[in-house]
Amino acid sequence: MRPRFRPSSLVPAGFVVDHLDVGTDRISLVVRSGSATATCPDCRTSSRRIQSRYQRRAADLPLGGRRVELQVMVRRFWCDAAACGRKIFAERFSEDVLPTFARRTSRLEQIVHHLGLALGGRPGAGLAQRLMLPV
Ligand SMILES: [Zn+2]
Repeated sequence: MRPRFRPSSLVPAGFVVDHLDVGTDRISLVVRSGSATATCPDCRTSSRRIQSRYQRRAADLPLGGRRVELQVMVRRFWCDAAACGRKIFAERFSEDVLPTFARRTSRLEQIVHHLGLALGGRPGAGLAQRLMLPV
């Protein structure tokens, strides 16, 4: 039996890969949430009505000697709850995958954090550079 490669196995849980571009020194992955709905951060009501989309970039763990950049397609949803003051919200991802406003995935952030703790600022940054981790 021939093993089947699934691009979504490369990215953090919950993301689906729409496009994969392998360059000489970087891999770009266009990803989106695999969920059809999102939860309003104010009233916790689930919505599936998409208002718009925008792109957010986040660095992920290097792969095969190449830096990995996720281009995350984020959806904005309408909140239909009558009592909710928020009309539109952007979908959020799990804190252990991609926190709000983060420029790195949580798994990359964790490694950078531990390098910093173990080696300190400059030596940690030097080793991160050699490991192709963006710092
Ligand atoms: Zn709401």
